[in-house]
Amino acid sequence: MWLAPRTVLIYVLIVNGIALAATLATAWLVPISSEDLLRFGVLGACAVVAIEMTRQIERKREYVRGSTSGYIDTKAVWSFAAVLVLPPALASAMVILTYFVAWCRIWPSTRPVPLYRWIFSCATVLCGTQAAGIVLAAGSSSYPGVPASLTLASVFDLGIIVFAAALRFSINVGLVMVAIALSNPTARVRDLFTNFGDQLLEAGAMSLGLVAAAVVVSNPIVLVGIVVALVALHRGVLVHQYEQASRIDTKTGLATAGRWHEFAEQTLSRSEDRNAPMGLLIIDLDHFKTVNDTYGHPFGDEVLEAVAKELLSEVRDQDACGRWGGEEFAVALPDVGNVQNLYNVAERIRRRVQSIVLETPGGRTTETLSLSASVGAALYPAEGISTLDELILAADTALYDAKNSGRNTVRLSMTVPSVPPPDLAPAEIDTKPQGSSPAPS
Ligand code: GH3
Ligand code: MG
Ligand code: MG
Repeated sequence: MWLAPRTVLIYVLIVNGIALAATLATAWLVPISSEDLLRFGVLGACAVVAIEMTRQIERKREYVRGSTSGYIDTKAVWSFAAVLVLPPALASAMVILTYFVAWCRIWPSTRPVPLYRWIFSCATVLCGTQAAGIVLAAGSSSYPGVPASLTLASVFDLGIIVFAAALRFSINVGLVMVAIALSNPTARVRDLFTNFGDQLLEAGAMSLGLVAAAVVVSNPIVLVGIVVALVALHRGVLVHQYEQASRIDTKTGLATAGRWHEFAEQTLSRSEDRNAPMGLLIIDLDHFKTVNDTYGHPFGDEVLEAVAKELLSEVRDQDACGRWGGEEFAVALPDVGNVQNLYNVAERIRRRVQSIVLETPGGRTTETLSLSASVGAALYPAEGISTLDELILAADTALYDAKNSGRNTVRLSMTVPSVPPPDLAPAEIDTKPQGSSPAPS
């Protein structure tokens, strides 16, 4: 923790301090009865069983999580149920219990999260918990507890519960996002909010928490059903996460080779139906091994990310960029029109890669990275090209030609009829980009 940047360190200590102070301040507000202790025991036991039964899935989820997304799981089922039916001291104890058990059981040996981050995460939930408790105490006539019958007052109470849940979630996520933004100054705000599936998971967990709160008061045995539902929910979340991972390349944010291939197949078939030519580019960075050897792999990864960003801003929305291999990218261009247009796009991309300026690591800021790419281009339809594999092969052969011609150049497949002039004025570029292009989804 002490090695973290100063701003992050101060921020983490402040949030931890606020969480501790708020937890102690609210702990005395509502006295604890023996019935509360019993309910705490039942909810706590369910929480421990649920964490135990989902810990393998949680481990896998952590490994596919991006660096800019917060860690979201279903512990909120138990801690939100506790906010609703138990006095603040026990609600806080439930948060601490679930975080403690998850820390000990999910990663018993190699932990991907440092302890201080786990404690910070727990502190953010404690802050949200106190705020939710205060809202419930001030606004809900059935607090501590949930509305038992359907009356106008209970509908109002339900509204207060939803508000308390939203507040708890916003405080938790907001505090974590500020920490991520402070530690990752290059992270874009967009990245912090993209994981809608995770936000939905948290909303689902709190809804189940509401059910658990009602059940623990009226019929605790039904809690078994909630534990089973949670395990099933986790499996679904994992499948979704794997699905995402198979579509989006985590290093560059572009489509994976498999997803890109699917998109290119569809593009080719549409192109065939409408008799509208499509283009295909394969881009390979020149001497990329030297970049890795000189500055290290992490910097090499940064370069790949920067190239992907430039690539996206240089093509149209309907074009699809994919990470074809290690330092190779593929672009499918539907409705490219003619070979001249295709060449123009390829040439623009080549120049764009060449113009990338990155600060090299190790304080050698004056050193400029000389990056270049070779591009192979092919057009469909053309002589001997009627399938996607043939189109890819043609672009790949053209790429080899570009490499053999000294690199940092564009080569068209031999199957296309004319070779365009070597240098093009900007006015001639007629397939202008229209903003950034998302990877195909
Ligand atoms: P050429 O101009 O002939 O293409 O030379 P090159 O060095 O780019 O080609 P080569 O195929 O010899 O090396 C490709 C390099 O790309 C080697 C590999 O370490 C690097 N590479 C592949 N994937 C990644 C990655 O994900 N991250 C980083 N940092 N490097 C990668
Ligand atoms: Mg290569
Ligand atoms: Mg290369």
